[in-house]
Amino acid sequence: MAAGAETDWVSRSADDVIAEAERRAPGKAIVCASGLSPSGPIHLGNLREVMTPHLVADEIRRRGHAVEHIISWDDYDRFRKVPAGIPGVDSSWEEHIGKPLTSVPAPPGSAHPNWAEHFKAAMVGALADLGVEFRGISQTEQYTSGAYREQILHAVRQRAAIDAVLDRYRTKDRPQDTAAAGQQKQQQKKGKQGAQQQPADEAELAAAEGSGAADEDDGSAGDAGYFPYKPYCGVCERDLTTVTAYDDATTDLTYRCACGHGETVRLSEYDRGKLVWKVDWPMRWKYEGVDFEPSGVDHSSPGSSFVVGGQIVREVFDGVQPIGPMYAFVGITGMAKMSSSKGGVPTPEEALRIMEAPVLRWLYARRRPNQSFKIAFDQEIQRLYDEWDALARKIDEGQAQPADLAAHRRAVGTAAGELPATERRVPYRTLASVVDITTGDEEQMLRILADLDPEAPVTDLAQVRPRLDRAAQWVTTQVPAEQRTRVRTEPDADLLASLDEEQRASLALLVDGLDTHWSLEGLTTLVYGVPKVRAGLAPDAKPTPELKVAQRAFFALLYRLLISVETGPRLPTLLLAVGADRVRRLLGV
Ligand SMILES: [Zn+2]
Repeated sequence: MAAGAETDWVSRSADDVIAEAERRAPGKAIVCASGLSPSGPIHLGNLREVMTPHLVADEIRRRGHAVEHIISWDDYDRFRKVPAGIPGVDSSWEEHIGKPLTSVPAPPGSAHPNWAEHFKAAMVGALADLGVEFRGISQTEQYTSGAYREQILHAVRQRAAIDAVLDRYRTKDRPQDTAAAGQQKQQQKKGKQGAQQQPADEAELAAAEGSGAADEDDGSAGDAGYFPYKPYCGVCERDLTTVTAYDDATTDLTYRCACGHGETVRLSEYDRGKLVWKVDWPMRWKYEGVDFEPSGVDHSSPGSSFVVGGQIVREVFDGVQPIGPMYAFVGITGMAKMSSSKGGVPTPEEALRIMEAPVLRWLYARRRPNQSFKIAFDQEIQRLYDEWDALARKIDEGQAQPADLAAHRRAVGTAAGELPATERRVPYRTLASVVDITTGDEEQMLRILADLDPEAPVTDLAQVRPRLDRAAQWVTTQVPAEQRTRVRTEPDADLLASLDEEQRASLALLVDGLDTHWSLEGLTTLVYGVPKVRAGLAPDAKPTPELKVAQRAFFALLYRLLISVETGPRLPTLLLAVGADRVRRLLGV
């Protein structure tokens, strides 16, 4: 595919990144970057931080350029608070607050060596399923191996210049700055955490931080003046340390810790501490040569780490800020149940249990980064799948618009190849109904699916997998028990006894047509046709308002007789699922 042949946002971003990278360092491999903090479950809302550079890097790769997508695991960040709702983790974890995330024990029963690795692993698994190719960089490994030694010593030598940059924002003291600082802390730097929250909530949280709150991301001013580096204590491992003296000639650094420990170390040989966030991020832009990195929408504010970082990378590290969009929040719908039972918001892993990877990719590919959208865990997921299937049909017919076509292509595969797909596009809502009604009985499901279209029957459940498994997971974990369908085991004798002649005649007409209409299409014609025939109209007559009323009443009667409520799965699907013999018995005919 020729460069620029498409008109979607990914293609335009790739154009920009390629041009910019060529201008900056001709011939160098292009670097697209993401950063994730494994401070707890990595939420679905944070996936945009990865999908945005992934899609752009993938387009660049498709065009034949050398490109790398790096994911920086911010696992050397301090453990800020004990997240709620992690099984086996209680307030006793508070003793670890202030330690690097890789020094905090993993939740009980974990197969992983520490807190950061535990939460990283779930994300790594989800990214593999999503076809996201990346190189992970552990900041713990980088810092503790001394990889950044020169950069740290340089930043410390340049601390007055860094302080001056930060001071441009400190002195302004506009209300907006205070709000931005608070919001930023809540979101852990890049909008990585809490990205699923609504802006209104963030404003409240930011306000709760109070005005003039010191921003720990800036670095602190101790006895030694402003210092952009924080040691982790040699005894308690926490960062409750203050630098009290520093000798530029020897690099001797003296700190004391809240635990009572204090010592003098030689920074040129010391690997247990890190640059403060607002210096760390621009240092790594330069170190990795990052060309493209997105950030959360809050970064348009003055004093944000992206804005400040742009000045620090230029003035202190002689580097260039990456280009990259500010991305809008991604919301979740239908999580009320899960939130109350599990105390959290879903992870990408949980989304991939109810929807296929291409569908989740599609949500990101089809919306520009500055457009917010919601990921549905409720009934809306059925409509999302309807839209997805409608697009596939348009593509089959050669009717899709170029941007839609591009988004679909990015969803179903990457430069490395196609992702697993479901062979037969049976609607998700139909599969969900079939699972619901049969409670997942494989033999019954196959019987019903085979009847849907007798001309081209589903002959093996493998033809509708993995979509069937996603729909099954959705029904069993997301559909409230009171909304599940329960087919009556015995006829409703009282209701049957109360029917009038017209109702009995309608039911008899339906039952007479069952055998000859036993397919999804046939039964659709039959259930709509019965009220027409009873009204003296032709089966293919256009519906009148009176007829629609009669149809609604007839459908409600069928639902009550079959499942004891007035609404439910689409009737043709329900009839197929219940089976002709049981339908006859429950309708009393
Ligand atoms: Zn200590």
